[in-house]
Amino acid sequence: MTDFFLMIKLVPAAGLILAGILGLLVGSFLNVVIYRLPKMLEREWRGQCVEFLGADNIIADSSQPERTTPFNLITPNSTCPNCGHKIKPWENFPVVSYLYLRSKCSACKNHISLRYPIIETVTSILSVVAIYTFGPTTTGLACLVFTWCLIALTMIDVDTQLLPDNITLPLLWLGLIANYFGLFTSLDSALWGAIAGYISLWSIYWLFKLLTKKEGMGYGDFKLLGALGAWLGWQMLLQIILLSSLVGAVIGISMIVIRGRDRNIPIPFGPYLAIAGWIALMWGHDINHAYLMYAIPIK
Ligand SMILES: [Zn+2]
Repeated sequence: MTDFFLMIKLVPAAGLILAGILGLLVGSFLNVVIYRLPKMLEREWRGQCVEFLGADNIIADSSQPERTTPFNLITPNSTCPNCGHKIKPWENFPVVSYLYLRSKCSACKNHISLRYPIIETVTSILSVVAIYTFGPTTTGLACLVFTWCLIALTMIDVDTQLLPDNITLPLLWLGLIANYFGLFTSLDSALWGAIAGYISLWSIYWLFKLLTKKEGMGYGDFKLLGALGAWLGWQMLLQIILLSSLVGAVIGISMIVIRGRDRNIPIPFGPYLAIAGWIALMWGHDINHAYLMYAIPIK
């Protein structure tokens, strides 16, 4: 085992290739999480409503899986949404199967969405970048977990405008634990980062609500910024907010250009925060340095 780790240290490319393959496999699992977790939560909430209000007051929803059948991240097996064909292991290999099947279900030839291989590829690339930046170290491994959680949160928020507590809260705790060992910042900075991250957006939310009587964002956004603060420390919060506005502007403008203007589609804030948080963890210190180098001589 020691030889294995030694080999990864000696041959940097081996670590990167492993990270890429691991990224593909995890990306495939993230596809399941992104699709099923919101449905699992909805099922749970419906169950709680039935318990609280009594079954008679709940309108039956035939699109929901039956409550008595198990539905979680592992069971049932993935099926084709069109014909119900059970997806075999060889049809489920990340990206390769998609290319081999030429983006069609092997049973009914229904088109399989391009987003599955895209999410697998993006997860793979970001995993390689994480290991390239931090090396095959504990910090690199922690960064992989951070990256994967943010990908799941981003896509779930895009799909459902939700940032599930099942991911944001463990992400916050993991950030504090990682920085107990000083992986990214000191424990002090991480603790105050978590608190300040949550409170800053919470205050903006209430201010905005009092002034406009509208809700600009959700509680999930506060928890996500709290989690980012726990990973990066309070010193990075301002940069994350500024970067997220920049990311939001870039994505917003590209969407207007690509799709034509449609400002009525609600764009959740979570993905911008997640992307900004990821960039800040990777290159935040370099960005700060570059900024200070250019900003200070002007004085
Ligand atoms: Zn099918």
